Amino acid sequence: MSRTTALIAALAATALSTPLIAQTRPGITAAAPVVPAQIEKMRDAALKDDVAYDIIEGITTEVGPRLAGTEAEARARTWSLAKLKALGFKNVRIETYQMPVWVRGEETAEVVSPFPQKMRLTALGNSGATPPEGLTAEIAYFPSFADLQAAPDGSLKGKIAFVSNAMVATQDGSSYGSYGVARFVGPNVAATKGAAAIVIRSIGSDHGRGPHAGLTTFAAGVTPIPAAALSTADADNLSRMIARGKPVTLKLVLTPQQTGTHESGNVIAEVPGSDPKAGIVLVGGHLDSWDLGTGAIDDGAGIAITAAAAKRFLDGPRPRRTIRVVWFGSEEVGGFGGRAYAEAHGSEKHATASESDFGADRVWRFEVNLPESAKPVGDRLAAALAPLGIVRGKGLGGDGSDVGPMMQKGVAAIDLNQSGQRYFDYHHTPEDTLDRIDPEQLRQNVAAWTAMLGIIANAPEEIGSVTPR
Ligand code: ZN
Ligand code: ZN
Repeated sequence: MSRTTALIAALAATALSTPLIAQTRPGITAAAPVVPAQIEKMRDAALKDDVAYDIIEGITTEVGPRLAGTEAEARARTWSLAKLKALGFKNVRIETYQMPVWVRGEETAEVVSPFPQKMRLTALGNSGATPPEGLTAEIAYFPSFADLQAAPDGSLKGKIAFVSNAMVATQDGSSYGSYGVARFVGPNVAATKGAAAIVIRSIGSDHGRGPHAGLTTFAAGVTPIPAAALSTADADNLSRMIARGKPVTLKLVLTPQQTGTHESGNVIAEVPGSDPKAGIVLVGGHLDSWDLGTGAIDDGAGIAITAAAAKRFLDGPRPRRTIRVVWFGSEEVGGFGGRAYAEAHGSEKHATASESDFGADRVWRFEVNLPESAKPVGDRLAAALAPLGIVRGKGLGGDGSDVGPMMQKGVAAIDLNQSGQRYFDYHHTPEDTLDRIDPEQLRQNVAAWTAMLGIIANAPEEIGSVTPR
């Protein structure tokens, strides 16, 4: 029995009958924060949760892929509205906004010489198009993004650049940033050096033939070139061909297009709190997905975990603060939903913001950015999460592209970090399907978010603004 559990057991009889926000016990020092028994009970009950799995199963089966700004994402909003109402949430609504929409076309690749064979790849979001009959050119090879950056201006004229950096998984996901740069801005760099097109080794930790989609961004004034990610297995094959020393010629057919401005939207649902002045506890994930898989880990998991945890407060004692669940639209293609939310709701008082967008494997760490006056809240959170095997990180919280614009306004942050060891095996691939969800680890997530909401939404302390990290 943990120290916290032991304390609670001793206090349970009275604690259960006291309101959640009045839990200061005489004789207990500040060094031993007390987690209200009701919150421990709700957390432990969430270890049997079925709601989160039901949401992921439902959206992947009844909607499937839901690329931002498309008819599929609109269907996802309709589905979500009905689902959140059926779960009993209050003030369920869709808030729309306009955004530019890119869609995939035909996409094939083959090595023409010296070793003719087909390769599997997928266009990156914002990729330009080849002529319909394709583009055939010699490869200019770069083992890393830094090598591409070092290429002299004009040296890539008429060539297809190929960057082969191989991502390695890390628990905290930090390698996505260091390797991902080849996708985020590699195509822009290649375009400015005159390349006709670019292919990169997928930003992923698998060894399969399913390519990893994802957004790339071209600077204003730079004409987008065809840009695609080869599956990791095909990229490694291409690297071996190049190592044999002869020029390698590739034929690409990529016909994506920008289709103009279309509607997207955020789906919002609430658990009303008893104290409107205490600020909103904002949680959520993103509703849109890339179009190759069915968006189970990215980010069916995030919308499901946050809504399933929040639902427990619809059924239990009313929280002090309003819990607002937002299923953000169009995250994958540039964070339009997060910015639209901040524009519409930036003037409302928010206590904290948190998002889940890293799959459904177990939460192993949490980090906060809380004002000094709310320090005890962080300590109680640590005590409430410890029994789930979650440690307190040394860094400052404030992660997330959807809640990022609110955090930039000074809203306090609570991050619950999932393990990233498996995430990039499936991220943005055709393999991001329901089968990747481990129901037991998913439940641990719901329990962690339930504990977090219980502590934060009921904290008697004022949670004011912070300096963004
Ligand atoms: Zn995501
Ligand atoms: Zn994603």
